[in-house]
Amino acid sequence: MRSIRICVLGAGAVGKSSITVRFVHGSFYENYDPTIEDSFTKLAEIDGKTHRLQITDTAGVEQMMTLRESVIRESHAFLLVFALDNPSTFNDLLPIVEDIKRIKDTDGIRRIPVLLCGNKVDLGFERVFPSNFQPSGVFKGVKYLETSAKLKIGIEEAFLDLAKIYMDQRRVR
Ligand code: GDP
Ligand code: MG
Repeated sequence: MRSIRICVLGAGAVGKSSITVRFVHGSFYENYDPTIEDSFTKLAEIDGKTHRLQITDTAGVEQMMTLRESVIRESHAFLLVFALDNPSTFNDLLPIVEDIKRIKDTDGIRRIPVLLCGNKVDLGFERVFPSNFQPSGVFKGVKYLETSAKLKIGIEEAFLDLAKIYMDQRRVR
């Protein structure tokens, strides 16, 4: 069985832990400890084969640069999360993308298995991104999904699509 190491990255409070715990345990906690960085395992079927998804839910962006560096180096695929009610969390992904590019030694993020996730889609009118939002710039061509850990929208899809993107990129390499 192949292990696919997935890293969940993004600013604080965008819902990284909620998305991860929703996917792995099927539950939602209003108050997940924001300081916890933890790894989870879940089996998933991709193109008819079972794979082991090893998911690292990161915590703290600025404080733990060296920790983040080693997690990025060891990960195969990246779930980049921002919150649809907080535009600065989208910008917070830009230095993270630069880190991934540097550590993985590539000039284009599309060469790396990445999925962009706009979380908290359940907030409806509180969202500041238009409902037809399509990421451009460094995210052009990157798969984008809107999710809600709270209402269980798009969560399975996000992890399974990302794992599939990884498997597909491996195949052509
Ligand atoms: P993290 O710091 O990125 O790991 O974020 P958390 O998972 O701890 O979530 C931060 C806050 O956002 C918590 O109060 C969560 O309950 C809330 N939250 C997470 N996901 C969602 C969501 O999909 N919708 C809503 N409305 N709130 C969410
Ligand atoms: Mg967290």
